[in-house]
Amino acid sequence: MSHDIHKSAILSCSGVVFDIKRFAIHDGPGIRTTVFVKGCNMTCWWCHNPESKSDKPELFFSSSKCRNCGRCVAACPQHAHRIGPDGHVIDRSKCVLCGACVTACPFEAVRIIGTIRTAADVLAEVLEDRHYYATSGGGVTVSGGEPLRQPDFVYALLWAARQEGIHTAVDTNGNNGRGGYETLLPVTDLFLFDLKQMDAEKHKAGTGGSLKNVLDNLRWLSENGATVILRCPIIPGVNAEDDGHWRQVADLAAGLTGVTAVEYLPYHRLWIGKQSGLGAAVDEDLRSRPEISGERIAAIHGILEQSGKPVSKG
Ligand code: SF4
Ligand code: SF4
Repeated sequence: MSHDIHKSAILSCSGVVFDIKRFAIHDGPGIRTTVFVKGCNMTCWWCHNPESKSDKPELFFSSSKCRNCGRCVAACPQHAHRIGPDGHVIDRSKCVLCGACVTACPFEAVRIIGTIRTAADVLAEVLEDRHYYATSGGGVTVSGGEPLRQPDFVYALLWAARQEGIHTAVDTNGNNGRGGYETLLPVTDLFLFDLKQMDAEKHKAGTGGSLKNVLDNLRWLSENGATVILRCPIIPGVNAEDDGHWRQVADLAAGLTGVTAVEYLPYHRLWIGKQSGLGAAVDEDLRSRPEISGERIAAIHGILEQSGKPVSKG
């Protein structure tokens, strides 16, 4: 097979993408394009991208943008929209994602999250900003969702980006089979590796995932030549109040040569509006949890610095 045919075969691979953010500055070094893929195998309630959890496209409704004009009601062939005394109600079980209501709405109150795209199509968008990558030391990052849920698509995109001389990064939750990391390591310059809780039971309760699996993958990456930035969300009621957790993170980072830096990500409440837009209930206890004070963030920063690695807000 010639090089061109080989490249075009790889780039024909498709994945479900829900956003592409250009000029991103928090997803690895320099100015980057971040490609967000859909589907995740963890269940963290604080996820700031709840629209990424399902691996399928889905309908999103913004009640704050809706003017109750009724155009979507008339446009929907499935009669999924209804406006009555109880407000604007969408019966999502009827929705076939045809997009008619999205087109009909003049206020962008409805949209479909997630489209199937080829690696070639996404690469073309990524390449539009290659000048900025070159001048800033940036590149492309695949985030999510969990990129390792779509390893063939992510491999294709990053392999092709590498061929173009573009720096590549993957933001992973760590909770995947080893095979996905073996596949992506040769085409990934940097792993942004999430670490949420150092107590196995609390980790399972908070994320649905196995801490042992996460730590095994982290150690494997570190021992096999990967460059890793640990990314640690600070979550109220999960780890924010627990100095012991942060000391364990610092000790772990100190002992892993592949870990070059530690970033912390203070909790924010953006997920609440997004979850409502997807038609999912929001637990009242979780809704009421406050964001993290500057004083507490500074204390956690200080503990993480005991790792001896550079520490910063991600
Ligand atoms: S996407 Fe199509 S089927 Fe779904 S609610 Fe809108 S118009 Fe109806
Ligand atoms: S068309 Fe848009 S603004 Fe009008 S009722 Fe439907 S969602 Fe609301």
